[in-house]
Amino acid sequence: MLDAGAPIIHVDVMDGHFVPTISMGPIVVKAIREQVAAAGALLEVHLMVERPERHIEAFAAEGAERILVQVEATPNVHYAVHAIRERGLGAGVVINPGTPVEAVSELLPDVELVLCMTVNPGWGGQPFLAHSLDKLRRLKALLGDETLIEVDGGIDRETIGPASEAGADVFVAGSAVFGQPDPAAAVRELAAAASGG
Ligand code: ZN
Repeated sequence: MLDAGAPIIHVDVMDGHFVPTISMGPIVVKAIREQVAAAGALLEVHLMVERPERHIEAFAAEGAERILVQVEATPNVHYAVHAIRERGLGAGVVINPGTPVEAVSELLPDVELVLCMTVNPGWGGQPFLAHSLDKLRRLKALLGDETLIEVDGGIDRETIGPASEAGADVFVAGSAVFGQPDPAAAVRELAAAASGG
């Protein structure tokens, strides 16, 4: 991924509670941090966990550079965002398909990025939800040019262009890269498709 020029390595952390699956944790972040830094890429951690504020210290200590928390996962999302920033890291918030874009409006001064889930998190390989394009346009109208929009879920060569046109700036690809025989070529093709190539 890094050799192909991927600018961000995005680590999906799942706890078996907020989402049904259990995935990786701080040990994986620690294991890849040097490689990611050597390539000049950003190490981003997406916490699909309940009460993410309890886990920020652990991921910060192991090398996360930007941490994203789900607005649905804690009643204290504002506190969580500030806990991330107090450690000098980039902060972002994430909204699930059923969460309205307005859920992030009070957090915008404090985050550099809003991630719009374009599938329901926790089940890999799902198709991009069609209503996401309209939602991305509404999110873009709310955010303006100050805050990045990231999309995660079902991003592939067909969906990345429309998502970009609807306002997304950053694209997470899982199956469309790791499920391919040549993942590096897949990264390059996705980058070209995102910029209209
Ligand atoms: Zn993610």
